Amino acid sequence: MATAKKTKAKSKSVLTEKSYEFLRNYINTPSPVGFESSGQKLWLEYIKPFVDTHFTDPYGTAVGVINPTAAFKVVIEAHADEISWFVNYITDQGLIYLKRNGGVDHQIAPAKRVLIHGKKGTVKAVFGWPAIHTRMSNPEQKEPAPKTDNLFLDCGARTKKEVEALGIHIGAVVTYEEGFDELAYDYLIGRAFDNRIGGFMIAEVARLLKQNNKKLPFGLYVVNAVQEEIGLRGAEMIARRIKPDIAIITDVTHDTQTPMISKIIEGDVACGKGPSPTYGPAVHNKLLQFVQDVAEKKNIPLQMRTVSRSTGTDTDSFAYANDGCPSVLISIPLRYMHTTVEMLHKKDIEQTIELMYHTLLALTPKTNLSYL
Ligand SMILES: [Zn+2]
Repeated sequence: MATAKKTKAKSKSVLTEKSYEFLRNYINTPSPVGFESSGQKLWLEYIKPFVDTHFTDPYGTAVGVINPTAAFKVVIEAHADEISWFVNYITDQGLIYLKRNGGVDHQIAPAKRVLIHGKKGTVKAVFGWPAIHTRMSNPEQKEPAPKTDNLFLDCGARTKKEVEALGIHIGAVVTYEEGFDELAYDYLIGRAFDNRIGGFMIAEVARLLKQNNKKLPFGLYVVNAVQEEIGLRGAEMIARRIKPDIAIITDVTHDTQTPMISKIIEGDVACGKGPSPTYGPAVHNKLLQFVQDVAEKKNIPLQMRTVSRSTGTDTDSFAYANDGCPSVLISIPLRYMHTTVEMLHKKDIEQTIELMYHTLLALTPKTNLSYL
């Protein structure tokens, strides 16, 4: 049919200008683990026109629902939280020591600009670090390596009192300042594409369903879960609440083409070469095969991977929730995970959206997922 052809020929433009505007804002809005509400509010506002109803849970997981009265429930899911730091100790000289809130990378910290989210609003600060001159002045001394216990923030205050006067308190969260930017050849960079690109992609799936007037034979729960980075906790909570029959999870995975990464260990995955689903015990084999068949029909290239034991993503929370929920993980390749320059390729974003979208259109409550 002509429309199908048109979609295919225009497959580069699945995403609109407005989509990218939302992505930019979303990435530029800090959403630290346990304090995700600013990002969640923005996400809910964006997705509301595309769903029939929405709700949130006590810890801030946000869910948009299409066909809320349907008995059979399918989830598409991403995690909303981003890694960050906690203010842990303030010295008499006004310097601030931190504790990790998620797997934030200490190696990239020196000289980075940060935002401290205090009681009186956002306060700018920097990770101070001894100058090369003073570091090198004693040739006997080894170069210090950045670690949580020698990294400190300088916000301009010179006493503890001055720090506190800015609204900074023990437990205030700290995020890096860098936001969304674009590079040549359709690459995007930013802080916390892990995994707000997932929140973006599931929202775009909802938008496409609405825009193309598609009716699904099941309830679709578009879930943006909190607290993944500290142990898949938000997904654990919401999986129990929704009790889905099927869950499709999306997150980021490592591009393995850059130096100092072993393909022998991490597999062979490249940005720009398509979504990357994984094999693993939590991943339901029949559901995975179903996704692979959809990809083949729609000419979406896949880069398969494997995981030992757990996937390390919300897939585990959904799979092992309740009485067992057939779950699949469709990841998107990303370079430099947990740094401020996480890098993605636009084509992968589009193809991951398309793969989830077409999988949903092909699924029915009757799809046979029985193992035996
Ligand atoms: Zn992560």
